[in-house]
Amino acid sequence: MSSVVGPIDEDSWARLALEIVAPEVLAPADVSVGDRWLFFEPAAKDAVSTAETGRAVINDFVRLVRSEDISEVQSYARRFGPLGLGRGSAETPKVPWTERADRTAVEQPAQVREDRREWRRHAEEVRFLLQGIEVVLRIGKPFGAWAELNAGPILPEPLYKPRPAGAPVADEAQALARYVQAWLREGRLTPRLEYRGRLRLCFDGEGLVSVLAFELLHALGHPELVFTCDSCGNPYVAVGRRPSPSTSHYCPRDRDTGRWSKGQEKYRQKAAARKASPKPPPD
Ligand SMILES: [Zn+2]
Repeated sequence: MSSVVGPIDEDSWARLALEIVAPEVLAPADVSVGDRWLFFEPAAKDAVSTAETGRAVINDFVRLVRSEDISEVQSYARRFGPLGLGRGSAETPKVPWTERADRTAVEQPAQVREDRREWRRHAEEVRFLLQGIEVVLRIGKPFGAWAELNAGPILPEPLYKPRPAGAPVADEAQALARYVQAWLREGRLTPRLEYRGRLRLCFDGEGLVSVLAFELLHALGHPELVFTCDSCGNPYVAVGRRPSPSTSHYCPRDRDTGRWSKGQEKYRQKAAARKASPKPPPD
């Protein structure tokens, strides 16, 4: 018979009864595309809405690396708004495109433009970090792409130089944590506590970079969910059912078409095998 009275769990910090909430960003009214820039048009004051968040933010961002079609970048930007690359200069002012707890404090975001090349470089860095998380933390092998990672926009200085003989996986895991830390700093994530039926630890941040940093933190803490898509070749964070490491994996975008084409392939193989070795006729 169990009793509710027992020893206090010394590790109870690991299971805090709190909900962790991602930063919220404001969806633009529209995004137009120039040769070099993406132009973000803010919504009217009475029509301001927050962008949807969740794993789609990071999974769809990574896909932009391989996309040659600027309309894909545009439709992503229309959903999630500016990255928040502004450094406060006259050319790229920091603008309040991020939702705050106290809505009255929100200024109307100004029109902002961001460099398309910077978008691609950020997408490349997120892609490398997810690949690193998959290889080092989920599979437990050394990661071979550090030279490319070191050229990332968030950390232009090399943070990690693998030794010629190869580094222990623990060193690479530590390096990945430092990269994600740099993203958290770049997104200026700030914790805020609120009580809404239960305790919520909400993160405020600046721009889409803060949401991507939050998603990188989630991936780092859940490497068992990070896979490479067998259809498009991009790394992604699984949603829905937990994938089995032994089967094929498809990102949410390719899940339906990937399984369908794999089924077709199996059917073709079986049909070819039947043709190659027809059953002997019955006696
Ligand atoms: Zn895919």
